[in-house]
Amino acid sequence: MRACVIRAAKDLCIQSWAEPELTTGEVRLDFAWGGICGSDLHYFQHGRVANSILREPMILGHEFSGYIREVGPGVVGLRPGMAVAVNPSRPCGRCDQCVAGLTHLCRNMRFMGSAAHFPHTHGGFCERPVVLAAQCIPLPEGVDLALAALSEPYAVALHAVALAQIPAGASVLVTGAGTIGSLVAVAARQAGAGRVIVTDIAEPALRRVHDVTGAETHLVGDAEASRAAETAIGEVDVVLEASGVGAALDMAIRCIRPRGRIVQVGFLPPETKLSLAGLLIREATLIGAYRFLGEFDEAVRQITTGVVDLAPFVTARFGMDQAEDAFAAAADRTRNVKVLLSFEG
Ligand SMILES: [Zn+2]
Ligand SMILES: [Zn+2]
Repeated sequence: MRACVIRAAKDLCIQSWAEPELTTGEVRLDFAWGGICGSDLHYFQHGRVANSILREPMILGHEFSGYIREVGPGVVGLRPGMAVAVNPSRPCGRCDQCVAGLTHLCRNMRFMGSAAHFPHTHGGFCERPVVLAAQCIPLPEGVDLALAALSEPYAVALHAVALAQIPAGASVLVTGAGTIGSLVAVAARQAGAGRVIVTDIAEPALRRVHDVTGAETHLVGDAEASRAAETAIGEVDVVLEASGVGAALDMAIRCIRPRGRIVQVGFLPPETKLSLAGLLIREATLIGAYRFLGEFDEAVRQITTGVVDLAPFVTARFGMDQAEDAFAAAADRTRNVKVLLSFEG
């Protein structure tokens, strides 16, 4: 089969890949749609994501959907032809975190398309990915599998919003209008937020979030935005920091009300310098949000039942043989939010 393989920074290719035999509990899929995530982009641009460094060729991708092609021994409830969204998490099920039910914080997590372990855990961007039956969430008939591929990033957003514990009608600041920030704004609305404010450095991204969620948006660096930020000091109930920029977290700390809650969902680079005095004098809580737990199933439910319409965030689609163009498009934040790939196009 063909697979989208990253070998080193800037060395991405579509190459043939051997298909493994199915073992107990596994299924083989026909790939439908896959979304390019920031981490895929990082492997492409830098050959690494934080401490996960590429040391061998790896199939990319952890946001994808497909059709069941073949079921392995012991699989019940899934039949060939069924459409599924795939949860890319493969927790060990045995460590203390797994036993406590916090499988997303598994100490031995094998997350698809990740170089955190060696050998690496291959992703799903191949014609016929093999996954565990337990990773498959069956989709209702007639569902758009392209949108189902957004289940993973939307699950990340739902998880961050769950940790934010947004009181009904609360004012919520979302810093960053990339995929996660945009989806966080959608999820915050679902969770009953009142005023939602989104900031970013890219105007088109802000316009899109505004159109979908009705959020108030501010372009960072703009004089009017600076004035708005001044009036927001100490006034925002909840902040979700989705940009991974130190200055945004600084702003979050300035804007948070006393005893407010800040959720960090964007990855901050290790060299980030912060002043935490504001956190202290307002007794604010700063909490990290990482991946998702039961929110994956909830994301699939909301997407497939039309509770949310994420279609406006799908800004480009490419065939897998144009993968390199697709990655370039995904890196262009002024034009794109989510870029999707398929083997059909
Ligand atoms: Zn992702
Ligand atoms: Zn575990």
